[in-house]
Amino acid sequence: MYGDIVILSGAGISAESGIPTFRDSDGLWNNHRIEDVATIEAYYRNPEMVHDFYNELKKELQNAEPNPAHKAITRLQQEYKNGTVSVVTQNVDLLHEKAGNKNIYHIHGQINQAVCMNCAHVITTWGDVDTQTVCPQCGAVAMMKPNIVFFGENLLYMDKVDALLHKCKLFIAIGTSGAVYPANTFARITKYHGADTIEFNLHATVNNYDFDKHVMGKAGETFPEYVENLLKV
Ligand code: NAD
Repeated sequence: MYGDIVILSGAGISAESGIPTFRDSDGLWNNHRIEDVATIEAYYRNPEMVHDFYNELKKELQNAEPNPAHKAITRLQQEYKNGTVSVVTQNVDLLHEKAGNKNIYHIHGQINQAVCMNCAHVITTWGDVDTQTVCPQCGAVAMMKPNIVFFGENLLYMDKVDALLHKCKLFIAIGTSGAVYPANTFARITKYHGADTIEFNLHATVNNYDFDKHVMGKAGETFPEYVENLLKV
């Protein structure tokens, strides 16, 4: 029986909740080029446009509902007795939270937050944020950036995530293409430290040699069944 478990999720786990992945949309995010809305340079160039994009995305993601894969994680966390089950997600949606998951690390940020570039204060809101928003802590204007990790920025919570990766005995990747660094190195790190590794995806990914096992198919169908069997062992 395993010890601690780390689950890494990517856009694929939310696909069955109606949120398109990058891949499904030819590298576009909601019909926008990544370079226009997901890089720090784009934000400095045109903060109004970037804010508009995330305000719209926020409305869409607020209405999405978790699917059986998210809910199976909750079950695993409630019934697994041999260690902790942590969720490291690249997703900016809040579907893990909506499904009742605990121990969640949003390494790419989350859609319902903004961060002050002057004092690092983070606000949580489902309302619009724009260049007129005032930081409630330091009073700065035009400094609240969506708390989304853009290409060119550091990931969040990596001290804690590193420690989890070094200690876990089972690493599970769900719906991630392995195209985005450094999350695409996590499986190899855990394997190096002795963990078993397994991925759930529609097809084998570019990092497939980092995984001991591949389960192909829709995560909403394959992952609940896997949890059922894991809890029997
Ligand atoms: P990606 O779009 O690059 O890859 C998604 C992967 O999921 C693909 O390998 C695909 O085969 C797989 N997949 C699709 N449907 C699936 C299903 N039903 N079951 C199992 N697997 C399925 O996404 P990524 O690897 O997470 O990395 C891209 C970046 O996209 C991340 O930085 C993330 O922040 C961002 N993103 C987030 C969301 C979200 O928050 N829901 C949506 C789109 C993009």
